[in-house]
Amino acid sequence: MEEKVGTEARPLRVAIIGAGPAAYYAAEALFKQAELVCKIDMFNRLPTPFGLVREGVAPDHESIKAVTRIYDRISANPNFRYFGNVTFGTDVTHEDLRPLYDQIIYGVGAQSDRKMGIPGEDLEGSYPATIFVGWYNGRPDYCDLKFDLSQERVIVVGNGNVAMDVTRILVTPPDELAKTDIADHALEALRQSKVREVVMLGRRGPAQAAFTNPELKEFGEIEGVDPIVGPADLELDESSLATLESDKTARKNVELLRAYATRTANPDHSRIVMRYLVSPVEVIGEDGKVTAVKIEKNRLELQSNGSLRAVGTGEFETLEAGLIFRSVGYRGVPLQGVPFDESTGTIANVAGRIIHASTGDLVPGEYVVGWAKRGPSGIIGTNKPDSVATVAAMLEDLAGLSPIADDKRDLSLVENLLKERNLKYITYEDWLKLNKIEVSRGAEQGRSRVKFTRVSDMLEALTQN
Ligand SMILES: Cc1cc2nc3c(=O)[nH]c(=O)nc-3n(C[C@H](O)[C@H](O)[C@H](O)COP(=O)(O)OP(=O)(O)OC[C@H]3O[C@@H](n4cnc5c(N)ncnc54)[C@H](O)[C@@H]3O)c2cc1C
Repeated sequence: MEEKVGTEARPLRVAIIGAGPAAYYAAEALFKQAELVCKIDMFNRLPTPFGLVREGVAPDHESIKAVTRIYDRISANPNFRYFGNVTFGTDVTHEDLRPLYDQIIYGVGAQSDRKMGIPGEDLEGSYPATIFVGWYNGRPDYCDLKFDLSQERVIVVGNGNVAMDVTRILVTPPDELAKTDIADHALEALRQSKVREVVMLGRRGPAQAAFTNPELKEFGEIEGVDPIVGPADLELDESSLATLESDKTARKNVELLRAYATRTANPDHSRIVMRYLVSPVEVIGEDGKVTAVKIEKNRLELQSNGSLRAVGTGEFETLEAGLIFRSVGYRGVPLQGVPFDESTGTIANVAGRIIHASTGDLVPGEYVVGWAKRGPSGIIGTNKPDSVATVAAMLEDLAGLSPIADDKRDLSLVENLLKERNLKYITYEDWLKLNKIEVSRGAEQGRSRVKFTRVSDMLEALTQN
């Protein structure tokens, strides 16, 4: 008689692709099922786990990273295995993994950026914020990049928390950053930086800004830095005033901005200039390099659904700057063998169940969580209920599951496959060793950790420890 899947005799075999918050909350939700015995293998592109908690969250927001202790606990479950330094789509394919797992969850985040779609966007000196964030956080893909910080003015396009992070890192005194886990190469470059002014461009008004109150408050607390906002930018139209009535975050943001507008700027200080109702329409360059950005002033137009849209007024201005960071959103990239919805930049799905993008038919046994499921929005905690909901769908589907073949149940099959391909994967134990080295190197300098920024250095360190 066939054994029931999800029992001691026949555990449910699940592969999770990615090791960010969404992936971990999915693993946690599966392990929490009292009646379910489940064996989870997590595959991650980088040797180091935790996705954007390590590679996105700003170095000066250290306390947020304490969430990784929960992920450590999940990883300590004897039914959990971690395969770091394994990229789905190249190192292992859909065809490799599908026969080995009853269910697969993709938690691969949003690995690319949205485009502004304006001329000059790709000139040297114009970069997606994603790259700069990865660079200062020591993401191995970007550790050799050089940003020309000899500019006095930098423009940051966007008004979300990522734009706030990038702006803050550009003007925070390096001695402050030196207390954090910022990548050493970034700290060194920021020590030489000549940047004295960061201009943030918001498409709509201050009442529609996407950033949250603590991030805006921080702007007023950076030593030697003045946040500047022009009084004209704080004149609100009727609809924006109505927004303030109902939206506490927007109300507090505008209050903070009004307080900044009354401050007298110190000419010796660096400046964060916050501009509203402006859109870049062209990045201007000379010899292939950015020299300025042409911006158009906007007005707000009330839409039939009640939202406010920025509409160009035909009035233009040119802002000189040699460096631009575009923080207009992250976007998913298609994964080999997995349906992708081009319109949303996410894995095609209905409430976490993967569907064929063209027909809408379900892809049995395959699921998605986090930013790869709903797009790049929400904080770390948002991913928990989102992953719990996907796991609920997985459990519901168990009744109709087509289980993997008996001869594919051997746990060593995956390890053998990786070894045959000569892939240098790392286990969670290996990561804990790397973590220990990073933390002890940090302790020598009074920092939480000094990060490895190269995969080869990580692998080398593991051969010696
Ligand atoms: C710059 C920035 C700062 C942020 N700051 C905060 C903050 O301060 N506080 C807060 O609460 N939230 C913050 N967030 C939001 C938070 O980071 C996200 O909500 C969360 O990380 C999304 O989780 P995820 O698991 O979907 O994606 P991710 O965290 O991006 O994880 C994706 C994982 O998939 C892996 N992966 C990708 N492709 C492959 C592949 N082909 N094969 C194998 N593995 C793959 C990646 O290596 C990674 O481990 C920030 C986000 C950004 C971008």
